[in-house]
Amino acid sequence: MTSEADQGSVLARRLAAVHDGIDAAARAAGRDPREITTIVVTKFHPASLVRQLAGLGVRDVGENRHQEAAHKAQELADLDLTWHFVGQLQTNKARLVRRYANVVHSIDRPALADALGAAEAYGAASAPLDCFVQLNLTDDPGRGGVAEAGLEPLAEHVLSMPGLRLLGVMAVAPLGEDPPRAFARVQASSQRVRALSADAYRISAGMSADYAAAIAAGATHLRIGSAITGNRPGHG
Ligand SMILES: *Cc1c(COP(=O)(O)O)cnc(C)c1O
Repeated sequence: MTSEADQGSVLARRLAAVHDGIDAAARAAGRDPREITTIVVTKFHPASLVRQLAGLGVRDVGENRHQEAAHKAQELADLDLTWHFVGQLQTNKARLVRRYANVVHSIDRPALADALGAAEAYGAASAPLDCFVQLNLTDDPGRGGVAEAGLEPLAEHVLSMPGLRLLGVMAVAPLGEDPPRAFARVQASSQRVRALSADAYRISAGMSADYAAAIAAGATHLRIGSAITGNRPGHG
């Protein structure tokens, strides 16, 4: 049996190890680690784990399913957290996600941008929603993300919407591809988006297994789950 205190120290150790890894990868790439945001992806884990992480100084958390994210955000409303939505999103859920998400990483089609950025979704007085356009690095449309050929039109569409603020490009490295190669493609795509808007320079890339390669390729937002949280309950 492990006590909550034991669990907390394991979590603290894993978090520190990942921070060390990020610092080392940033130094190796000649980058300042302070320009890199680490999002801890807490999907499938209970709100209590997110609270423990917050106690260890974590401020950015990521979720990929609307219902679960909504519950946790509500339960943890007393904490000063930035909620990142990183999963595939149905257009009819967009307005609900907008209620708690501070950043959406997974805009992959104009209809979703329309739904997230619609005036009634955010109200005339509130700030635009920070977002990334997600690039699909595979040939499988089911993986989420826009195909490379559709990237610029989608980015232009997002840039045209007053309710959205485009931060940059997001991607997941495909399973069968060498991460440095995959992230080089992301970096090239990021350049294309930056040519449309210099402010959209950020790159959301890098997970538990490949964050060092993502840092070498310019990632500004890492989405790290299991290396910090341990295995996801019921999901290995
Ligand atoms: C789950 C998830 C992550 C984190 O994955 P780990 O391998 O556990 O670090 C990152 N990005 C997205 C989009 C995810 O769904």
